[in-house]
Amino acid sequence: MGATRDLIVIGCGPAGASAALAAARRGLDVLVLEKKSAVGSPVRCGEYVPALILKDIPQVDGFVAQAAQGLEVSLPSGEVLRASSPGLMIERDRFDRALAQAAVDAGAEIITSAQVTGILNDRVRVTLRGEEISCRGRVIIGADGPRSLAAHAVGAGNGSLAVGLQERLPLTRSLDHALIYYHHRYEGGYAWVFPRGALANVGLALDRRQSKNLQALYRDFKRCLIKKDIISSEHPVYKTCGLIPAAGLNEKAQAGNLLLAGDAAGTTNPLTGAGISPAVISGKLAGELAAEAVNSGDLSILNVYREECAMALPLERTTIIKKEIDSYWGTPRGDALLKNYWDGFKSQTDWGN
Ligand SMILES: Cc1cc2nc3c(=O)[nH]c(=O)nc-3n(C[C@H](O)[C@H](O)[C@H](O)COP(=O)(O)OP(=O)(O)OC[C@H]3O[C@@H](n4cnc5c(N)ncnc54)[C@H](O)[C@@H]3O)c2cc1C
Repeated sequence: MGATRDLIVIGCGPAGASAALAAARRGLDVLVLEKKSAVGSPVRCGEYVPALILKDIPQVDGFVAQAAQGLEVSLPSGEVLRASSPGLMIERDRFDRALAQAAVDAGAEIITSAQVTGILNDRVRVTLRGEEISCRGRVIIGADGPRSLAAHAVGAGNGSLAVGLQERLPLTRSLDHALIYYHHRYEGGYAWVFPRGALANVGLALDRRQSKNLQALYRDFKRCLIKKDIISSEHPVYKTCGLIPAAGLNEKAQAGNLLLAGDAAGTTNPLTGAGISPAVISGKLAGELAAEAVNSGDLSILNVYREECAMALPLERTTIIKKEIDSYWGTPRGDALLKNYWDGFKSQTDWGN
């Protein structure tokens, strides 16, 4: 892996690829280390993004599965709110690969099957196809997802996490809206139906402390969708699960020459679980700052990263509301807070923030 690289990016999801792309475009010598053998798969995602994401990514084709007019949100009271924020259902594997290819085209090097096992100052320890090696980077970006090793290395693990379970199931008819369902039993989360043509990604996320109830609640949710004539079968085409950060932007999103981006930094909207768009935005910001710091020889420029992230992704308010809703979960006050949040949302164009 040669001499000291300008930038080492750990993880090649939307955050890592966006960071690599931004830094390589600004002339940095970028190395991306990805533990999976192929970028983008397996997919662990609902694949619903605000249409606005298109302004933050390079022009690439072939990853949109379906456009959606917005969201239909069913509250615990039974009231249904319609939020007309245009969305896109993406093919997440293609999306991740397209971003990674754009970074490679800009000059970044991506190595797959390369699992980072330790970080100390500018040195990164890697297991590459069974062999232990190490490499050095002037700047390091940890974009390694919700269980980030980079975050743990600086004592910044994700505080609160939700756990999500999702299957791809056949719809009885096509839908032009994404559906969201709140229920008192879905503590700290919600269920969803994200349509993609004849099929839909059908999922449920709960506060991780409720994970023992996840399977049973999910089964009930599917039965309910069959009764409502939304899906035609409980038998999935494919199934996935994963963790979703729910504590807001990490206080230690930057420490010395290490920046955290995407889920590693907790940029996911803690109420909606939307994490792709903020991963792209925070990754891009981290890559741009890394380039500015390396090109000027002044690494202290990195110190503004967290503040800039907080300005680009106004998560503070949502994090406070999420805590408040959780602490009053299942009570009239909790329901009223939830309704207020989604009422305010109706006029927004982006479900990410
Ligand atoms: C069930 C579920 C449904 C979701 N649905 C949606 C949705 O509909 N819309 C939305 O916007 N968000 C959704 N999210 C959240 C979204 O998937 C994440 O927020 C997004 O993937 C974050 O991107 P990232 O690049 O930060 O992290 P990731 O996409 O997790 O990428 C991190 C990368 O780092 C790699 N990596 C990890 N550790 C190491 C290591 N030690 N060494 C090298 N590489 C490593 C991983 O293999 C991975 O490729 C969902 C999440 C889940 C779990």
